[in-house]
Order: sequence, then structure tokens, then C-alpha cells
Amino acid sequence: MSASILDGKAFAATIRGKVATHVAGLKADHGLTPGLAVVLVGEDPASQVYVRSKGKLTTEVGMKSVTHALQADTSQADLLALIDDLNGDETIHGILVQLPLPAHLNEDLVITAIDPAKDVDGFHISNVGLLATGQKSMVPCTPLGCLMLLRDHLGALSGLDAVVIGRSNIVGKPMAQLLLGDSCTVTIAHSRTRDLAQVVARADIVVAAVGRPEMVPGDWIKPGATVIDVGINRIDAPEKGTGKTRLVGDVDFASVAGVAGAITPVPGGVGPMTIACLLANTVTACCRANGLAEPKGLTA
Ligand code: NDP
Repeated sequence: MSASILDGKAFAATIRGKVATHVAGLKADHGLTPGLAVVLVGEDPASQVYVRSKGKLTTEVGMKSVTHALQADTSQADLLALIDDLNGDETIHGILVQLPLPAHLNEDLVITAIDPAKDVDGFHISNVGLLATGQKSMVPCTPLGCLMLLRDHLGALSGLDAVVIGRSNIVGKPMAQLLLGDSCTVTIAHSRTRDLAQVVARADIVVAAVGRPEMVPGDWIKPGATVIDVGINRIDAPEKGTGKTRLVGDVDFASVAGVAGAITPVPGGVGPMTIACLLANTVTACCRANGLAEPKGLTA
């Protein structure tokens, strides 16, 4: 293996440390405690795990954490009423509605109901538009985490060729906007892209956000490229015993690590950065709401 490993777990801990320092300063100097409200509808086990983890880490950095766990059959009107209450609650600076929502609820309407200033997921159409036009916005947490890892490893990204594989609203598109904002030459690839191997081969930076286990092989990668693997895929692992599974990314780690200059592992790469950026966004939202200087190095 020649690639250096971009340790997202360690870097996320550093980010959380910076958040905690800033939170302590806000409390001491301004009597302010940033607050994050997470809304969970239904009992999806994976969502429950994420929400518990978010609550624990929010409290650890000294912020107020509120979880609203609603029944799976909660009506659209009741959910919107809760969001309205949270929008008006001065102790809450960030609101996150855990997705996916049960099928009877309209995700677009729910996200649009969140005050854009409290939209710490960065999914509100206002924040999407602000990011696309290069203005101050709330930036979606996963792409923000990828950008922080890239800047930390590469320094200035200006002029580099970047290929983002995947064009979802939550990862691919905002990732491409952020790389463009840092003056990369950006290509967005997707399921209809012709000759993906050739497109990827010219990239100094590859961000894979596809949702297909180990799809990107080492022989697509330009030697020395920096590879960010967003994918989280659970696959069977018979070598660990009957019925066992393991997590892999969208990149074939073994072959890509032999060619790339640097690579994020799965797990322990982008995943921990996502929650760290959620906390960073909540502190940023609190500072903006109170007309205070934003923490340095925690925003795009
Ligand atoms: P989506 O399913 O919303 O988007 C996947 C994208 O990949 C689509 O744009 C699709 O193209 C493209 N795609 C699918 N197949 C191919 C192919 N064969 N060749 C090229 N492109 C392809 O996924 P998300 O963006 O939500 O998530 C992507 C991955 O990232 C998943 O594994 C997810 O679990 C993970 N993830 C990880 C997070 C973290 O914190 N680490 C957070 C969020 C997601 P098209 O548009 O043409 O269909």
C-alpha cells in the first residue's frame, strides 16, 4: 500500500474539540448555549442509532441536545407544528429532521418548513441556492466534512481536477459546489456517465458517493490522487463466520490504496466527519443568530 490514510475519526475528534472550546467561550462570554433539536419519526433502527449518537456527541461538546421521538403515524400537520415551535424557540439554533421519513410524510414540505437559519443539515432550498451562488449558507454536513479532509491534506485545492461520482442532493451536488467554490475543475459523474473509468482517471481528487460496494477499482485512479470514499455499504463477510457482515465503501480500498496518494477508510473516514460537521454547523448557526463572529475553520 502506498497511499496515506486520511483518518476521519481522529480529525473529527479535533473538530469536536474546537466546537467544545467555542461552546465554552459562548457560555462564558455571552451566556449562550448552542442547542440542537433532532426530530425522529418512527422506529427505523438505523435512524435510532444515528439519533442516539448525535445526542451523545452534542452533549459531550457542551451543547443543549433535544430529541423529539414521534410515532410512525404522526401526521404531517403535527410534524409541521413541532417544526414551527422549534423555529420559534430561542434556545434551539439547529433543527435536524432525521431522514428518511415514513412514506405518508412529504420530505420536501418538511424541510422547507425549517427556518433556513436553523437548517443545520443544509437541505433547505434557500441554503441550496445560497451555496450554489457562492454565498454564506448552511452547508450539508457530509460534503463539508469531505472538504475539510481535503483542505487539511492538500492545502489549497485551486486548479485541481476533481471528479464527484454521484449527483444526489445531499452529497454529490453540494460536494461539487464546494469544490467549485475552492476553484477546482469539477466533473460530476452519475449512472449515465459514459466511460466512467476514463473520467475518473484524470482526477487529482475523486469523491465517490454512489452506494455501490467497492465499485471504483485501483486501475481507474491516477497515481497519487486523493480519494474520498463517502459510501457506506454493508456486505456479507463469510470469512468472519456464518451470517456475519462488514462495512465497505464505494471504493475498492485494497487496490485503490496501492495507487492513490491518500484515501479515506470505511469505516473511520467520512462517517465521523458528518456528525462533527453537524455540531460545527450548530455552533455557526448560534453565532450567526446572535450576531457574533463565526468560529474559524468550522465552516466552508
Ligand atoms: P443516492 O442513491 O442518492 O445517489 C447515488 C448516486 O450515484 C446517484 O447520483 C447515481 O446516479 C449514482 N450512481 C449509481 N450507480 C452508478 C454507477 N454505476 N456509476 C456511476 N454513478 C452511479 O446516494 P447518496 O448520495 O445519498 O449516498 C451515496 C453513498 O454515500 C451511500 O453509500 C450512502 O450510504 C453514503 N452516505 C454516507 C454518508 C456518511 O456520513 N459517510 C452520508 C450520506 C450518504 P443517478 O443520479 O444517475 O441515478
